[in-house]
Amino acid sequence: MTKSFRWSDYVRPHLRELQGYVPGEQPQGGKFIKLNTNENPYPPSSAAVAALKDVGERLRKYPDPTATAFRQVAAQVLGVSPEQIVCGNGSDEILAMVVRLFLGPEDHAVWPSPTYLLYETLIRLQGARWQTFRYRPDWTLPEELFRANAKLTFIANPNSPSGTCFDLNQLRGIIARIPGPVLIDEAYADFAGQSAASLVRDCPNLMVSRTLSKSYALAGLRFGYLVAHEDLIRHLHSTRDSYNCDALSIAVATAAMSDQAWLRDNLRRVLEQRHVLERGLAELGFSVQPSQANFVWCRHPGGQAQSIYLALKTRQILVRYMNYGPDAEGLRITVGTPAQNQVLLEQLHQIVKSIP
Ligand SMILES: *Cc1c(COP(=O)(O)O)cnc(C)c1O
Repeated sequence: MTKSFRWSDYVRPHLRELQGYVPGEQPQGGKFIKLNTNENPYPPSSAAVAALKDVGERLRKYPDPTATAFRQVAAQVLGVSPEQIVCGNGSDEILAMVVRLFLGPEDHAVWPSPTYLLYETLIRLQGARWQTFRYRPDWTLPEELFRANAKLTFIANPNSPSGTCFDLNQLRGIIARIPGPVLIDEAYADFAGQSAASLVRDCPNLMVSRTLSKSYALAGLRFGYLVAHEDLIRHLHSTRDSYNCDALSIAVATAAMSDQAWLRDNLRRVLEQRHVLERGLAELGFSVQPSQANFVWCRHPGGQAQSIYLALKTRQILVRYMNYGPDAEGLRITVGTPAQNQVLLEQLHQIVKSIP
């Protein structure tokens, strides 16, 4: 009996062979220049860090189940009401909550590709269906997306890996053409200087997910939120874990969101360096997609993206090599500090010189 017992026999069939989402490498130790997971190169607001005081007392008690303090501050920043916001353990949890709410085994979700790879993992976990449509070469949306009639449509805006972004006018038109729920994933929207949150009032089928991981330099905190019509927010509250955000993350996120001066200063520095990186890569012969995010998508005409990635890695520089099929591979490079970007460009110069 014990011999023949296998845990995988008890796992639901659609989960047995599931390969979980594979995040970018997070080397433990070593002294890498880490430009592979779009983390902010600067430390977070000192007000955010200071919010960790009284940790003992915060930890003794259960957290506010709906993160009221955060929702009030975020509502003010975005010009929506606190009842239009639900918070989560990173925007990844927000995406999972939405998938769980809408999709059963017969339902399907759609998104333009290439984009954030987690969408597929979440749909697989749910045992639901999905369909993807290639972006056009100029990174506009394929027509099929508008005819898909899906239970859920994901659009990352700005998109990863391309860094391209639809402006609010374009988005309004896009959302109006999709009959079902549309989730605009705004993980990088602060770097584009816009948010579709202001469209929620006029677009009843719109959801906007946001995170403090990138623009607020708090990837380790795990805090994200969704902005949508109050009716949907109520459904999400009744289906999420009761304490999905812990007391420390609520305190830090609230303080970070309250420090908009820090955000403005950080954005200015990152955008300045984005320009440096774009120009430097172009000078080295890369074709560079103009970015509205905190990373740059570039391709080398020699088609040597993977060997360039490996050569950088041996030089202790991590970037993200992405291969989305034939003729769609490239490097996604996070904007670092001036010193990091300079080292990167110098090393790339050496590497590219040696490519025939
Ligand atoms: C980083 C990222 C997220 C996840 O953000 P977390 O809040 O850290 O979970 C979501 N969507 C996209 C497109 C991202 O790049």
